[in-house]
Amino acid sequence: MKLLKLPPNDRIGHYCGVAGITSAREINIPEKLFYPLFALQHRGQESAGIAYNNKGQLIFYKDLGMVSNVLSRYLQEDHPSMVGIGHVRYSTQGSNKLENAQPMAISCNKGQIALAHNGNISNSMELRDQLFRQGSIFQSTSDTELILHLIARSTQNDFKSALIETLQLMQGAYSMVLIHDDTLYAVRDPLGFRPLVLGKNADMTLIASETCALDTSRVPQDRQIKPGEMIIARGDTLSSERFASCNKCSQCIFELIYFSRPDSTVFDYSVHMLRKKMGRALARIEAHTSDLVIAVPDSGNSAALGYAAASSIPLEHGLTRNHYYGRTFIQPTREMREFGVRMKLHPIKKAIAGKRITLIDDSIVRGTTSSILVRLLREAGAKEVHLRLSSPEIKHPCFFGIDIPTREELISNNMTPTQIAEYIGADSVSFLPISSLRECVDNPDDFCYACFNGDYPVQVKDPAVRRKD
Ligand code: SF4
Repeated sequence: MKLLKLPPNDRIGHYCGVAGITSAREINIPEKLFYPLFALQHRGQESAGIAYNNKGQLIFYKDLGMVSNVLSRYLQEDHPSMVGIGHVRYSTQGSNKLENAQPMAISCNKGQIALAHNGNISNSMELRDQLFRQGSIFQSTSDTELILHLIARSTQNDFKSALIETLQLMQGAYSMVLIHDDTLYAVRDPLGFRPLVLGKNADMTLIASETCALDTSRVPQDRQIKPGEMIIARGDTLSSERFASCNKCSQCIFELIYFSRPDSTVFDYSVHMLRKKMGRALARIEAHTSDLVIAVPDSGNSAALGYAAASSIPLEHGLTRNHYYGRTFIQPTREMREFGVRMKLHPIKKAIAGKRITLIDDSIVRGTTSSILVRLLREAGAKEVHLRLSSPEIKHPCFFGIDIPTREELISNNMTPTQIAEYIGADSVSFLPISSLRECVDNPDDFCYACFNGDYPVQVKDPAVRRKD
């Protein structure tokens, strides 16, 4: 059994959420963007920002911090505009810098452009090297700046043709919104890795990463933007065109397992209902001997409901989450990390003492949080703790916009489920097999499972090199 280095963080993270608005009349676009961005906060907590067009002038504001800290002043101010975009950003360690915050706005030979991006361009290193050799100067490490460079350097005269030419150079995952003059562009990559949805009401057209952003703004969903589709929205007019042919989809299955909010509809699936189905599928693969099913809140809640229903084991509220625990704590030592988990999750001793527990979580990454949780439950008097994960074993990094650690750090890449149980102090550990996960969706071939099986839908040149943004 290999020794695992203790990491600074034991969750996998997302690379951002986006929103874009157009309206036929002047409305307070910054205020209107606040609400969808607030609803998308789970997709990124490191920085937030907006850009909008005010009588031909592109204005933007962004800063490090949560939406409520960075953008709440716009709830008190009036900034009439007809088009705007916004962004929330997650960053990996060391890249939490203001210059990487979005939207990015530039003035170039194609005019004024603002861009907000969710995803990861898997050939960005080659494209960046090429531009660097030709004299381009980069001020950040983000893909967003690279995309703006490519648009500016395009030999196409009009903006839309330059954008399409740029998209055809890019590989990997991108759902993004752009402003050019008074027009909003929204684009989803040809494999459809990240979600992007379109809604409309009498006031505005709203495009966002998830439907929860539309619901918060009381904008009914029209449809999801298709892989390889570009939406062009100006005032209340809207047109659509395909910039790439799409023979195959590779939607990120992890959006449904963990990342998206349970009240969202993603890839036309109710996230909550699908997670319940995964929980039911997990329960069906074994005989049951425990007294209670307990969810790790909030990520395991929906799957635990399904598991309890299918196994006929009572679901108990065994762990309470402290919602005031933020992400601001740096936890360089094991003791501090353990204290962090104890501050966030509290066992309810009366419910747990003397019971055999089936603990449901969505996934296990390095195993540090799981080992602390198992210890918490044992200290609360649990007789047995059986950890069940509603995803398959994560064995490979992601190159399409999700921050998964290196192979060496992934516990499932180093240990069998029996060894993991021993390592985290549980009585047993088991996972939802990929075959069962595939059976949970109607169109299993339309999804990416690469972090489980290493079958990357886009050729990744050097899988050992991880993205720095
Ligand atoms: S590798 Fe995993 S996390 Fe990344 S896009 Fe594929 S399914 Fe999603």
